[in-house]
Amino acid sequence: MHVIVAEKNISARRIAQILAGGKKVTEKREGGVSSYRYGDTVTIGLRGHVVEVDFEPGYQNWRSEQYTPRSLIDAKTIRVPTEKRIVYLLQKLAKQADRITIATDFDTEGELIGKEAFDLIRAASHQVPVDRARFSAITPQEITGAFAKTTTLDFALAAAGEARQSIDLMWGASLTRFISLAARRGGQNILSVGRVQTPTLSMIVDREKEIESFVPEPYWQLSLLTKKAGQAVDTRHTNGRFKEEAAARQAYERTKAPLLVTDVKTGTKQDRAPSPFDTTGFIVAAARLNFSAANAMRIAEDLYMNGFISYPRTDNTVYPPSLDMTGILKTLQNSPFRKDVEWVMAHRRAVPTRGKKSSTDHPPIHPTGPASRDALGDDAFRIYELVLRRFLATLAPDALWKTQKVLFDAGGEEYTATGGQLLEPGWHAVYPFSEAKEVILPPFEVGETLPVNHVTLDEKETQPPARYTQSRLIQRMEELGLGTKSTRHEVIAKLVSRKYVEGNPLRPTLVGRVVTESLEQHADTITKPDMTQTLEAHMQQIKGRARTREDVVKESREMLHAAFDQLEAHERAIGDDILGRTAEELNLGACPVCGTGTLAIRHLRGSTQFIGCSRYPECTFNIGLPVTQWGWAVRTDERCAKHGLSFVRLVKKGARPWDIGCPLCHHISSNRESLSEIPSLPPPLQGRLEALHIYTASDLAKSPPEWLATALDIPAPDAVQLIRDAEAEMALLKKRSECRKFLRNHLTPRKGRSYTAIVNVLREAGVTDISSLAHANAAVLRKAGISEQEAAQVLGEARSVHTMQTFREIGIPATSIRKYHAAGISSAEDFCTLHPVMLAQRSGISLDTVYRHAGLVCGHLKRPAPKKMTKLQLEKGRKELMAIRGMSDAMILPLLQAGIADASGLLAADIKTVSASTGIPSDTISGLQASARKIKDNEIIRI
Ligand SMILES: [Zn+2]
Ligand SMILES: [Zn+2]
Repeated sequence: MHVIVAEKNISARRIAQILAGGKKVTEKREGGVSSYRYGDTVTIGLRGHVVEVDFEPGYQNWRSEQYTPRSLIDAKTIRVPTEKRIVYLLQKLAKQADRITIATDFDTEGELIGKEAFDLIRAASHQVPVDRARFSAITPQEITGAFAKTTTLDFALAAAGEARQSIDLMWGASLTRFISLAARRGGQNILSVGRVQTPTLSMIVDREKEIESFVPEPYWQLSLLTKKAGQAVDTRHTNGRFKEEAAARQAYERTKAPLLVTDVKTGTKQDRAPSPFDTTGFIVAAARLNFSAANAMRIAEDLYMNGFISYPRTDNTVYPPSLDMTGILKTLQNSPFRKDVEWVMAHRRAVPTRGKKSSTDHPPIHPTGPASRDALGDDAFRIYELVLRRFLATLAPDALWKTQKVLFDAGGEEYTATGGQLLEPGWHAVYPFSEAKEVILPPFEVGETLPVNHVTLDEKETQPPARYTQSRLIQRMEELGLGTKSTRHEVIAKLVSRKYVEGNPLRPTLVGRVVTESLEQHADTITKPDMTQTLEAHMQQIKGRARTREDVVKESREMLHAAFDQLEAHERAIGDDILGRTAEELNLGACPVCGTGTLAIRHLRGSTQFIGCSRYPECTFNIGLPVTQWGWAVRTDERCAKHGLSFVRLVKKGARPWDIGCPLCHHISSNRESLSEIPSLPPPLQGRLEALHIYTASDLAKSPPEWLATALDIPAPDAVQLIRDAEAEMALLKKRSECRKFLRNHLTPRKGRSYTAIVNVLREAGVTDISSLAHANAAVLRKAGISEQEAAQVLGEARSVHTMQTFREIGIPATSIRKYHAAGISSAEDFCTLHPVMLAQRSGISLDTVYRHAGLVCGHLKRPAPKKMTKLQLEKGRKELMAIRGMSDAMILPLLQAGIADASGLLAADIKTVSASTGIPSDTISGLQASARKIKDNEIIRI
């Protein structure tokens, strides 16, 4: 059996289809993992890395005395399977195989993934031959070619990947732990540091500081508007920027009509077709179409795996001679861009364009097959179109421009105008993504004079350098040797998800800035790109077998130890610095209640977060916030004009942020409705309460009555009433919140379901607490969009909860309630219909107690309580009944339930009624009655 191991499931399927050459490929699923089979060949896909590197056990405890952050540098690492089911299947197949081919992606990462698979295979089988297929696109030509001449795994290339993996783990883990512990941060709040991540962040922080320290300088610009042959022409003063206003003004004053044409130069300019795409060039071009770097790469990888484009991770901008351009153009004739493809075929340049970087691993990114918008969807199709058109452009002729430069004189001041006209559009005809802006000037002749229609003197300011856009940052990272084509976009995404940077263009957050500045000050090797550049050079040496992995990792360890020498010496200072400066980030402004404290966002253990005053416990003012599942509370740049407090926003990964706005405005408006429900609180009084910092019913209920009377200037009895009403309102609010919680717990969340919307519909129908819900009918719930089945379930639950509440209220102790509930006695009705003996038997509660409870419940329901019988009476009656011929033990309880406790009861009963309620046949009952009568008669005779 021949086993082929691909990098992903989707590439495994495509490779199988291509190699099967028209034979039927069957998919087999084992433990959730697919394999694709034809003939004697099985193809399976990994999920990228199926094992991960981690430290040996013991290092997981952050606060361990023994395993300090520094000890992670020398810690031994182990490989742990992360995709157990794939590993299992791979090893199972390895035992049956007589040949295995590794067909992972062809680059350092792919070679490492292949090496990991190789190690897993060797653990299962010592002798099965393993070879390697290398390809740059998953197309029939590339795949069949690669499998026709397989080679061996490149262990040096994989070792370079492994070295990077170990070094990244060692740097990231030890430094992250050190900084987080120093700044006393844990959980969701850790401060991550990384080998590539931190120097990248440092660039963003440095740019921000440049912007902040930038002092704009004023300058002046002169322009002149004239007209020729009915066309307006804009000209600029040849001096460009005037630094002195006086000079600019003088030139302005001297500019006088007429405008004399002094020189006209025309020429042509060649506009070279663009070079092929490497990863960076592609990301930059995709950014112009509004794709983030990470998104563009994700889509490109998808297109690659489906055989539409070549491998998108490449540093190469020169097509290899082996690439069959004509063949590709021919297949693209079947794409929706047929016209453009055929235009290029007809006008093709002799040699395709080439960029500056040439490498042998992969060709530049190019299309490999036709695709349609329907098959890909809009976004993927736009990326596909970009790659396809870029490919066409690299084969298209250069464009040709006609250029024109005209000089003018106006009262001794020189002005100029330039024009450009596209003579031959060349590659622009197939590549609309780079704008070709034409400025067509009318023809001018030297010596002719023109009118001066308008002269403008503009005052402007020099601009600070721009913040980095994602694509600009990726270009800069490449120039500095930070990261690789495969990781740069991921590094940026990490900085965003760790809340170190935000926005596009990117700017650092306060935490991002504080961490960077603190590290720069105490251990700048971590923030500078030098160390990372050294590592890149070392990786090349490993690939070229000039150095070993162990050697490089050892050197990196030493560098890190040196950094730790500096860090540990300043641990306290670093920690205090970060702690002190980041606390600032949670401060919202002066406390409106005490006036001297500061309101700040606080995160407690678990998911609780709220806004509290720094003077707690003297000042207890606080504002509740939704739990962190709804988003992590952060401060924004906006500020409330009325309260002077910073706005608050809840941010959650992968969700749109939830803007709370000014926390106090939010607090007031969310409590307004409940305050307006207080009958003794008319709106004008409500406004005065706000001025007294009483925002909620609870604030009001807690106010001392005398103080309230004076502060509001109302009679003392009114203040007392107000407080009493506030307490009642709080009880109501509590019930409502219970009801809301109940609905949330009993209605499964699903897409489109809004609990607020449900609560609102129910409230309109008068259902605001569990009691009213228990008495509601299903139609009300149906109106709120709840299915019939769910409604029945919720109502049932509500009734049961309501009964329990009622029981508690009327004085049945909780332990008894639990016993009744466990016995299935969950409605008040049961106490009026079931005989106390039955209730006692089922619940295990003593008969006397059951009688007392039944009395309480029936009293509450205004129903007659069951007639009390003593144990003795019951026992006597039971004996009498059991003495009757034909009576069985099983009939006693049903008879009791029907109100028959003794022989005379039985004799007095109506046969039909008793039969109906007990289920005992009428014949049996009449037989029993006859026997009972005989006994009775005998008794009478005996007397
Ligand atoms: Zn306060
Ligand atoms: Zn406000």
